[in-house]
Amino acid sequence: NIYVLRLGHRPERDKRVTTHVALVARAFGARGVFIEGEDNRLTENIKKVLEEWGGGSYFKVEMISDPKKIVNLWKRKGGKVVHLTMYGVNLPDMIDRIEHEDNLLIIVGAQKVEGWYYHHADYNIAVSNQPHSEIASLAIILDRIYKGEELNIMFEDNKISVIPMERGKKVIRRDG
Ligand code: SAM
Repeated sequence: NIYVLRLGHRPERDKRVTTHVALVARAFGARGVFIEGEDNRLTENIKKVLEEWGGGSYFKVEMISDPKKIVNLWKRKGGKVVHLTMYGVNLPDMIDRIEHEDNLLIIVGAQKVEGWYYHHADYNIAVSNQPHSEIASLAIILDRIYKGEELNIMFEDNKISVIPMERGKKVIRRDG
């Protein structure tokens, strides 16, 4: 099971990016996201997507105020903590260590991340040592862990799904 911890969410500035962190987490196989901050509009929007596109029965979205507590609890239960940072060890050199872990908490930041997380994470992992984005780094680490299989994820409890086609847009809607 993989959960994502999104640190330092600022409702005005990070609305889109945090939403995308949650959507990437859901689409690419994580079981839930903890978001540090207070932003009920954000959780409502994500839950709307879950209701329409599926995942609501198992994907967890939770605003939290004490992310360090989440990290400590995760470790106490035997899970491993990955902190994504451009300063870490590059992912290709770390994938062997994490791909078989049963319970991973993947931390992504917004602004500067406190030193505490660098010290308490089991692994500080970079997705290249260049500055880019929490959305991109989360997508790539999930893809490396799941080896591309996440692209075939289907959500059973959906109301709407896409009929894939080369051109045009088609969706089917199950109402009820
Ligand atoms: N400047 C901030 C710092 O020094 O901590 C980071 C800002 S960055 C826009 C936001 C988040 O994106 C980071 O906390 C990290 O989780 C993620 N990130 C950005 N580049 C990354 C990289 N090359 N590898 C892994 N994660 C990265």
